[in-house]
Amino acid sequence: MAMSEQQKTIIDAILAERERQDKKWGEQNHVPPIWLGILGEEFGELCQAVNETGFNYGTELGGYENMKREAIQVAAVAIGFLECLERNREKWGL
Ligand SMILES: [Mg+2]
Repeated sequence: MAMSEQQKTIIDAILAERERQDKKWGEQNHVPPIWLGILGEEFGELCQAVNETGFNYGTELGGYENMKREAIQVAAVAIGFLECLERNREKWGL
């Protein structure tokens, strides 16, 4: 299946965010419940950006750029979790 230019742009942004996270935190080998906490935090920030946009609270937290940034962070954390699962699959007996 061919990727559209739009998909390439989005995937590139997610991979750039993955790189940023690795530079900031190093390789992360958390157990799944910890990943859920991290993903939950990012999902919460995305919810906040959506709410701030939809309800127009007049803060700096809503709008296209914030929704986009937080959605990219959610996707990047989910990929980080998947990478961790692959790295630790045998070790964790999965
Ligand atoms: Mg975030």
